[in-house]
Amino acid sequence: MTIPECYACDKEAQFDELPPRERVDFDRHWRVAHSFTTSVPGWLVLLPRRHVTAVHDLTDAEASTLGAWQIGLSRALRSVTGCEKTYVVQFAEAEGFAHVHFHIVPRTADLAPEHRGPGIFELLRAPEHARVTAGQADRLAAALRDRLRGRPAEA
Ligand SMILES: [Zn+2]
Repeated sequence: MTIPECYACDKEAQFDELPPRERVDFDRHWRVAHSFTTSVPGWLVLLPRRHVTAVHDLTDAEASTLGAWQIGLSRALRSVTGCEKTYVVQFAEAEGFAHVHFHIVPRTADLAPEHRGPGIFELLRAPEHARVTAGQADRLAAALRDRLRGRPAEA
C-alpha cells in the first residue's frame, strides 16, 4: 500500500526507474538507498518495500533477511569506504520519513569526535554544497552492489 507523503513509498512506486543511488541493492522485502542529504559518502538507508512505521510491525519474512542485510551492507561499506566500523540506527521520526528505515553509516577513522555516536546525524542534514553528489552516490552504489553480489572490486 502506498501512503501519500511517504518518501520511501513514493520511490518504491517508481522502482523500475530508480537510479543506482536509490536502488543500491534489493530483495523482495528490502531496498537499499544512498542518503541524498548527507555529507558522508556511503551513508545507506535500508527500507522495507511496503509501508511500515514501526519495527514491531515487520513480518517474520522481512525479519528473516534483516540481519543479513545489516551485516552484508556493513561488510560492503568497510570494503568500499575503508571505514573502521558502521553505525546501525533506526528512528523513523523525521517528517515525511515515518516509514521504517535503518541507517547503515560508515564511521571512518578520522571522523571528528563531535560527530561520533548520535552526533553523526548532524551530517545527515548537510548544507547543499557539502552533500555527496548524485554522481558520487551512483558510483558508490555501483561499487557497493558489486561487493554485495560477490563481484571483485575494480582496480
Ligand atoms: Zn512508506
